[in-house]
Amino acid sequence: MRYAVLGTGIVGRTLAATFSALGHEVVIGTRDPEATLARTTPDAMGNPPFAAWHADHPEISLATFADAAAEGETVVNATSGSGSLQALTAAGAENLDGKVLVDVANALDFSAGMPPSLDPVNTDSLGEQIQRAFPGAKVVKTLNTMNCRIMVDPDRMAGPHNVFVCGDDAGAKKAVSDLLVSIGWPESAVIDLGDITAARGTEMVLPIWLRLYGAFGHTDFNFHIQGARAAG
Ligand code: NAP
Repeated sequence: MRYAVLGTGIVGRTLAATFSALGHEVVIGTRDPEATLARTTPDAMGNPPFAAWHADHPEISLATFADAAAEGETVVNATSGSGSLQALTAAGAENLDGKVLVDVANALDFSAGMPPSLDPVNTDSLGEQIQRAFPGAKVVKTLNTMNCRIMVDPDRMAGPHNVFVCGDDAGAKKAVSDLLVSIGWPESAVIDLGDITAARGTEMVLPIWLRLYGAFGHTDFNFHIQGARAAG
């Protein structure tokens, strides 16, 4: 499979490296590849500049959002929530049409400082906004409810814990569930919440996730739904 991972932050890097290690071809998308490679200072979260990471992953290419999305058979949105619609617009609807679009972004709004609020929220979600803006894409919201180290290494957590998927296209959700299993998630850990409107719920757990982070002082935790079982 060829994956286009849109996003040069820690999440895009983590997912891209994992897909690559699984033997997939991976291209990372960014606004301006030259500018991204020219950054020399750590990002706001203290992650090393992209070029330093890229030097260790020369097999992963870097391209504009549009070129990356054109190349990818499956596209992952790992851009900031406030920039996701702009990033995907730059990627181009024609490069997303008919493809699975895995959305791991959170609609965090930092414009009023910390803690961030959610925008959109309650009666809408970023996942739905993306699906509405790109009706030809098969949006599947997943993995946004945990730190990225857990996304790609569920075994780092002792005991059972869960990952949610939702989206309007059953085939796309099956493909994403298979991808999750290939990363190491037990099939029984994947909870299908239904259509893309369920993204409201998975995005609205972020306030409690942030408070747990504050309480624990680390990000090595995840949600475990006691009593989870297949529908029907
Ligand atoms: P981030 O700093 O939230 O986002 C960086 C990416 O967003 C970059 O690729 C950047 O483009 C792009 N971007 C920012 N503003 C943009 C704009 N106005 N137009 C177009 N693109 C824009 O990166 P992150 O920390 O890796 O998080 C990625 C996403 O995953 C976020 O939505 C976050 O909430 C979510 N998430 C994070 C975690 C975690 O463990 N950190 C866990 C779950 C979900 P350039 O490359 O051009 O700079």
